[in-house]
Amino acid sequence: MDKGNFKMKVPFFKHSVGEEEKRAVIEALDSDFLTTGSYVKKFEEKFSEYVRVKNTAGVMSCTAALHLSLLACGIGPGDEVITTPQTFVATTLAILHCGATPVLVDVEPFTGNIDATKIEEKITEKTKAIIPVHLYGQICDMLLIRSIANRHHLYIIEDAAHALTSSRGSVRVGQLGDLSCFSFYATKSITCGEGGAVCTNNAELHEKVMNLRTHGMSTDAAQRFSGKYKHWDLTSIGWKYNMDNIKAAMLLPQLNKAQRHRDQRMLHYRKYCSLLDPGIKRPAILDEVESDYHLFTIWVDPEKRDQILWGLQEKEIGATVNYRSINLLSALSKKLGWHSGQFPNSELIGNSTISLPLYPSLTEDQVCFVCKTVNNLV
Ligand SMILES: *Cc1c(COP(=O)(O)O)cnc(C)c1O
Repeated sequence: MDKGNFKMKVPFFKHSVGEEEKRAVIEALDSDFLTTGSYVKKFEEKFSEYVRVKNTAGVMSCTAALHLSLLACGIGPGDEVITTPQTFVATTLAILHCGATPVLVDVEPFTGNIDATKIEEKITEKTKAIIPVHLYGQICDMLLIRSIANRHHLYIIEDAAHALTSSRGSVRVGQLGDLSCFSFYATKSITCGEGGAVCTNNAELHEKVMNLRTHGMSTDAAQRFSGKYKHWDLTSIGWKYNMDNIKAAMLLPQLNKAQRHRDQRMLHYRKYCSLLDPGIKRPAILDEVESDYHLFTIWVDPEKRDQILWGLQEKEIGATVNYRSINLLSALSKKLGWHSGQFPNSELIGNSTISLPLYPSLTEDQVCFVCKTVNNLV
């Protein structure tokens, strides 16, 4: 069995997958059809209902979801896509996978989200899309981003990997984006180990995503194995990103618990806020935002950050960094000519940030222990 960090006093993450999910997986394994079939269809219907969009495509990761979304928008070599340096590398890599060029806009110093007021100055004739990332579960300023996108005829693809339940004022996740991308990776709020989804209200974009996720074939396996044999054609040059029935079966029961689990994370979040020294900085959550509380992050003195991380490890508390500013990662800076000093807000956050454990099964004692330890170390 994989153990490692999980033996700690307070592991960084513990999933909430249990008996119901096990039963669902066994049921799927007992059926004859293991790949993309009825469970995936049912999951896609339920997920569309949950996010309140018309269409969902189940895929193998959020990275695949972002890649397919960009391809469905026709984005390729010569095009530019605007995004944030304060995100996981997948957001940028998906743009590079299409042959397009990522263009970064610095973040707001108080939330870590892309500073929408600085987007317009980075738009050129080559710009085709904006990928806002709802960092830590807080929705970006989507009203402003939508109006900029409309003015310049750009697509919006939401990186909603942190934001399954989030909203901001009257705007829900996935509502103003042309497409939105979700992750079911092991540490995300619902999970099948590795998985993702693309949501959209646009039937044409959905068609393209569905086609491209299975090589570009004109039918999927479930269609080919039902009724009279029909020849399939290859109608575009696609990828192999389709979700399978086993993953979909595992995800279905988790959707019913997502809001409850989010509420449990919110309670832990509030406990952290009440027990940590008031001098310790953390990202602000705006009044009109319902966050998913995906991560609990503190921002400490960059000079002391790594010492504090190691101190937490020593006390058997799992902690990690989400994220060092992506313009400073060597392969990206080499390829794109990015360097330090370009995105001061993102770089400062990247050098100060520590993510502390946040998941439903955390106990009050554990939160107290983490806070006491952090207060001592800071
Ligand atoms: C997890 C994550 C991704 C990538 O998700 P995968 O499903 O692992 O591909 C993309 N963006 C953000 C912000 C993430 O946190």
